[in-house]
Amino acid sequence: MVDDRVEETARIVVVGAGQAGFSVCAKLRELGHPGPITLIGNESHPPYQRPPLSKGYLLGETTEERLYLRPLNFYEERGIDLKLSTDVQRIDRSAHEIMLSDGLRLGYERLVLATGARPRRLPAQMGGDLDGVCYVRNLADINSMSHRFRNGQQVLVVGGGYIGLEAAAVSAKLGLNVTLIEATPRILQRVASPETSNYFRALHAGHGVKLIEGVGLKILRGDNGRIKVAELADGSVVPVDFVIVGIGVHPNVELAEQAGLEVDNGIAVDVHCRTSDPAILAAGDCASFPWRAERIRLESVGNAIDQAEAVARTIMGLSSGYQAKPWFWSDQFDVKLQIAGLSSGYDSIVTRAGASNGISFWYYLGDQLLAVDAMNDPRVYMVAKRLIEAGQSPVADLVANFATDLKSLLGAKN
Ligand code: FAD
Repeated sequence: MVDDRVEETARIVVVGAGQAGFSVCAKLRELGHPGPITLIGNESHPPYQRPPLSKGYLLGETTEERLYLRPLNFYEERGIDLKLSTDVQRIDRSAHEIMLSDGLRLGYERLVLATGARPRRLPAQMGGDLDGVCYVRNLADINSMSHRFRNGQQVLVVGGGYIGLEAAAVSAKLGLNVTLIEATPRILQRVASPETSNYFRALHAGHGVKLIEGVGLKILRGDNGRIKVAELADGSVVPVDFVIVGIGVHPNVELAEQAGLEVDNGIAVDVHCRTSDPAILAAGDCASFPWRAERIRLESVGNAIDQAEAVARTIMGLSSGYQAKPWFWSDQFDVKLQIAGLSSGYDSIVTRAGASNGISFWYYLGDQLLAVDAMNDPRVYMVAKRLIEAGQSPVADLVANFATDLKSLLGAKN
């Protein structure tokens, strides 16, 4: 435990009203912090879920209000002062104050940076400023692009990561003609095995998405400022009505950098989520934290919630250290992918066929189970998550045998 507990009257200020910022505030109240809490966000909406932006919300299956993590009265009832449409522009560490875009200064005893990440943008010299170049990060992004999703339109998706693949799936479902290009040799190369890439390649091809791997974008060309065609690195030309760019994100570290905090692939925090200034903590997509022998950043709802709650525990003097338990999901067409653990560094894969067309890929390093990708197999996911969190590694042959009862794996150690 660290004894960092703040006074009961201490003002906690949280910058960034996303999943992590929301979770810090909710957890602080749950743990009984009675002092003032201010949550400041530069978007105009109360904290909302981002995952549906590239899934149900993009499909038009859900409303904006249903994305909100809580209704506005949640904040009022708990005395959380929610300031929206307000940008935090600077931190004055010596005065323990922040400067806001409305000209106000606000003091803090503890400051939490939950500033998230923003999409990498296509540079103007590649046509990035043409009308019709879209990104999928904020509600405002989706609201401003939804009118483009008309049957028969030609959309080019740049980037074969989860966001690009989900946007491609929604576009195909809505009747658009979809081409997706990925510059590396295969989709999902950064995050998944060739087996998982093959699975999703076949899924998309089966729904009419044209996937082009190993070919990057050379330039987008337009007419009167509106996008018309994409020239690819192999010299081919694709006609396009609009483009969805999903080529990764940058963590929002500028506030921290200007304040002289340590930044290393994100705002660097210790195991108690404290930055190099112990009065300032960080959580979520913006924060990089110690993991095994490295420092990593995770872009997932699970991490945003768990790390934010760890921040709240540190502030309350209850921290026993943040242990990341990575999990993630993605929805594409009729497939739900659920991932437990982190696969980086694996040296072998075990395939397990599941019931009703489910399948899972189990990533091992030697005898150690690192991660599992489960496609339409929620039971495998549940068991794998428990195994990985408990540090248990079932024997590969048992896993691969469809006849092995899943629950029995929980007791079967290497
Ligand atoms: P964010 O949600 O980015 O929130 C940060 C907030 O801080 C933003 O509102 C930002 O505008 C604001 N901000 C930044 N700087 C300032 C400032 N100076 N002043 C005031 N406000 C500021 N994860 C999954 O686990 N599963 C999924 O299926 C999944 N799908 C996703 C689909 C999409 C389209 C996207 C974009 C993300 C998805 N994710 C998914 C990732 C997940 O949503 C993020 O990891 C999570 O939202 C991170 O939360 P956060 O609070 O750290 O950051």
